[in-house]
Amino acid sequence: MRNLIIYFFVLSMILISSSVLAGGPFAVDTVNDSGVALRWGSNTLEWYLDPGAMASGYTNATGKEWVEDALDKWSNITIKNASLAAVNTCQFNASYQGELDEDITVDNVSPYISTSSGHSAVIFDEDGEITASLMGESNKSTVVGLSAPLLSDSTGLYITKGFALFNGYVLSSGILASTESVEDALFQATILHELGHLINLDHSQVNDSVAQQCANAGTVYSRNGSCAEGGQYIPTMYPELLTTLQGNLARDDKVTLSWIYPNNTFDNDFCVITGQIFDDNGDPLKGVNVVARRVGGSEGMSYVDARSFVSGAMHTGCTGTDSSYYLYGIVPGQAYQVTYEALNTQYTGASGFEPCDDPPSGFESGTIAGTDGETTVSCEASGETVEMASQTVSTSGGGGGGGGGDDPTDSSGGGCGNIGGGSNEDLHVVLTLLLAACFIITIFRKRSYR
Ligand SMILES: [Zn+2]
Repeated sequence: MRNLIIYFFVLSMILISSSVLAGGPFAVDTVNDSGVALRWGSNTLEWYLDPGAMASGYTNATGKEWVEDALDKWSNITIKNASLAAVNTCQFNASYQGELDEDITVDNVSPYISTSSGHSAVIFDEDGEITASLMGESNKSTVVGLSAPLLSDSTGLYITKGFALFNGYVLSSGILASTESVEDALFQATILHELGHLINLDHSQVNDSVAQQCANAGTVYSRNGSCAEGGQYIPTMYPELLTTLQGNLARDDKVTLSWIYPNNTFDNDFCVITGQIFDDNGDPLKGVNVVARRVGGSEGMSYVDARSFVSGAMHTGCTGTDSSYYLYGIVPGQAYQVTYEALNTQYTGASGFEPCDDPPSGFESGTIAGTDGETTVSCEASGETVEMASQTVSTSGGGGGGGGGDDPTDSSGGGCGNIGGGSNEDLHVVLTLLLAACFIITIFRKRSYR
């Protein structure tokens, strides 16, 4: 079984719709549909900790340390600017509020993952029973983590409650890797990923081709957590855990966090590339992944300095008048190529990228030109916005989906179902999110079976 194991993040949503996006925000304003990504009030995640053990053989103190390490990474982001200075670009903070009064178990977890108001909890599901309860017994050994922003305030702009849950059973049962040090690193990457969702980042498929090469080389277990040469280019928020290197934030992760929680440096030292995608009929086309990557840099720079955004991601649903994309963190004076591609069909639907349940696919990737017709663009001065020419993506060809996988998936991935439900009567809760980002181990890549 072990070498069949693979990770899989599943997103699900109920109640008032919200948006789950690649390289972008997990949730956007649905109160006023202002096209704004939600963030934690005062740019600060105030979190409480389950006082129980993280897993069998792993203390609460170790768990707390790993969570704090991950939050430190999300809070201390630097990006090299045009002067090659690594500058801090965000103003996100995490503030530990203390231990919860009770060890959270399957018997008392409900309020912490519900849409009733309350503390934002980091939950250690030591024996996997909470996961089994939420996801079904068969998924006790497949779901590694689960997280979500749950509530916003009445403005629709600020998250007021969320949770992150980690399944200690998976960590202690030898499912992740053959050595403890690799298991630990993979679980820490999971923590980083799930906390990213809690902060309001969604999945990113930037450098998808590299990630798929890695996946084709075997499961994370069979590769013992490593991943050829490309592992360093796979973002933490990629929908699948492929390497321990996802325990390091990639440029795309950093740019997205900095965009949602920018400080003045991010706004002043970098540029943004923007444009819109249209279909054959001239209608806005949402759900197309757009990537900007540097050209002409040192080896590997085109993968390092890359970020993505799904067209139309700032408003929920697959239809609408706004199919804009925003590619942030562009370094002045550097040349970039902007391309479009289909979202990987392995991760669509319940497991991947909104705002479209069934995003457009079956079209060839292509390059988007600048308004001057050139295929590379750059900004001269910091803080500029570079407008791209409108891009038509022909989806009329139909046919079977992009994705690049040469093997079909072999499993539904266990499914990450609704974990609460019902309407919320809290007067101040006008936007209820009940997204759950699952981190699932499953068997869906037959090609890696040996
Ligand atoms: Zn995820």
